[in-house]
Amino acid sequence: MKKPPIIWTNVLFFSLTFLAAITLVPWYGFSYGYTSTQWIAFVGCMFYAGLSITAGYHRLWAHKAYDVHPVIEVIFALGGAFALQNSALHWSSDHRIHHGQVDDPIKDPYAATNGFWYSHIGWMLRDYQGEQYGNYSNCRDLQKNKVVMWQHRHYMKLVVATNFGIPLLLGLMLGDVWGMLLLVGLLRLVLSQHFTFFINSLAHIWGSRPYTEKNTARDNGFLALFTYGEGYHNFHHIFASDYRNGIKWYHYDPTKWMIRSLAAIGLASKLKRTPIERIEKAKAETLMNKTQGRLAKLPLAQDKLTLLQSEYDLLLKKLQHFCALQKRVLEIKRNKMMKQCEKSALMTQYHELEAAWENQKQAWLALNARLLKASFS
Ligand SMILES: [Zn+2]
Ligand SMILES: [Zn+2]
Repeated sequence: MKKPPIIWTNVLFFSLTFLAAITLVPWYGFSYGYTSTQWIAFVGCMFYAGLSITAGYHRLWAHKAYDVHPVIEVIFALGGAFALQNSALHWSSDHRIHHGQVDDPIKDPYAATNGFWYSHIGWMLRDYQGEQYGNYSNCRDLQKNKVVMWQHRHYMKLVVATNFGIPLLLGLMLGDVWGMLLLVGLLRLVLSQHFTFFINSLAHIWGSRPYTEKNTARDNGFLALFTYGEGYHNFHHIFASDYRNGIKWYHYDPTKWMIRSLAAIGLASKLKRTPIERIEKAKAETLMNKTQGRLAKLPLAQDKLTLLQSEYDLLLKKLQHFCALQKRVLEIKRNKMMKQCEKSALMTQYHELEAAWENQKQAWLALNARLLKASFS
């Protein structure tokens, strides 16, 4: 099949900025040096551009995982132009197709099934979208959003204003305009672009798949460090409308922490969370399918398969009981309508069910580990 034409402006832009970043930035550093203030400005601007994409473009606009005050929307829209990843409308449209058609080599705009290079940057170097480029029919909601449409209409002007204006302003305020243009302008732009591109490439290749194996998306805590928390991509692909990607408190997800902080001061609301029951069920089902798949290859595995099924059923029952009571406890806490004695009886039952569920989960994990190990030996 004939390949679509090359988009030379993109090829030249990505190669020239990359080459300039790996040559001019170190050359200037060795010749004149960078100050710690410049490095702080660089890190601050990395986070500003990065979080505008993850919290703004991705979780707010593409997935509608929460609502935010219009002032914050404007800040995200400017940060998105600073990150130079197309307008929020275009980005969200591509991203919604990515989720709907994930891994389809033709329909998914950055399908990981086409290889690392294609999903990282190759998809932008040729006119793969053809006449579909600019079709935003999957973003009718965003077409009604004044901030999104304002950014879309004035996108190129905003790109120039932020990418030259911010480093220039910082340079004039803090000293050394050239150093600031190179660090905050050039290096920040190239790095923040590639860090986001890693979510399309590496986060679909490298890591584990605890929630679903139906697509290539992976969970990778290391990648989360460079992607403002988006490394938990396996979770994200199955529960895309959750405002979190890293769901445990210790998962590095600064995007989630920022959204939660905005909510705490009244600037964000309607934060969507996936119920724990659905998350745990997805995990159990994925592990079950994996173990079943392995056992199916072994002779005389029927007993083990039956045991696995019965433990799975028991696990789901315990999970259901625990979650039902958890829901009741939350309702009661909200209404505060209960006598002290009733409350303590309820809490005792709650802790019992919680422990029963935890025990069953440990037994379930141990059983799967044992069966998987046996299937290898
Ligand atoms: Zn993805
Ligand atoms: Zn997404």
